Amino acid sequence: MRIISSLESKFGRFAIPGLVQIIAILQLIVFLLLRYGPVETREGVLTALVPDSGKILSGHVWLLLSHVLVPSFSSAFACLCISSFSLWLGRVLEEAWGAFRVNLYVGWLVLSLGVWSIFFGFPLSSYWLFNTLIFAVAALIPNEEILLFFIIPLKMKWIALLDAGAMFFMFLGAPSAILLIVFANLNFLIVFGPHFVKMWLQQGKVAARRGRFESAKIPQDTFFHQCSVCKKTELDDPHLDFRVLDSGDEICSACRAARNGG
Ligand SMILES: [Zn+2]
Repeated sequence: MRIISSLESKFGRFAIPGLVQIIAILQLIVFLLLRYGPVETREGVLTALVPDSGKILSGHVWLLLSHVLVPSFSSAFACLCISSFSLWLGRVLEEAWGAFRVNLYVGWLVLSLGVWSIFFGFPLSSYWLFNTLIFAVAALIPNEEILLFFIIPLKMKWIALLDAGAMFFMFLGAPSAILLIVFANLNFLIVFGPHFVKMWLQQGKVAARRGRFESAKIPQDTFFHQCSVCKKTELDDPHLDFRVLDSGDEICSACRAARNGG
């Protein structure tokens, strides 16, 4: 996109390298505080991070962003998996796009969800960032295999599909969540949507071209010889041998033998 490129040349130097990795480590620290910290610390951390429209409007603007640090799972193992997976996803994405585009992709999602929460107040967590990273990396390297939960080898495209399935169940459980789901995937759709549409159109064109090629070829059931007596062709019996009679008609070896014998 040309706008992004010109923005990058102007503001690229302000980009934070390793943004996703920084967030992943902060997420882990927040999780540890919430899990093992004293009660007052836990309450303090939650109050400081969970978005609240009243507080945002009265000046606690960091709440527009801080929801990305709210853990989406209560299990320590799940949080460790997500954090280490996020570290890798962030590195892959930054290698592919550079820091500025990653900042834009992540920043847009986090900020827009924060603004969303003012109006709709849907509880937000780090899940949406994780989700958008999975989708982006799966679109870039769909066949890259990773170890899910450190043990199950799974390709990125299947992990993205599982994630999409989880969102579908979220929608079934609470149909009103559809707005949030669409909204939280807008950045992905904007970045990859045109690419998918192009790929889909390209596939259609290839299929049409292949169809034309196939129909131009000689059909499978075309025969070159047909016996004028029994009407058999070389397709009916590949062992038949055909000769041309004086009349110009063809006759198969079987009919010729019968005629000569009779
Ligand atoms: Zn014949």
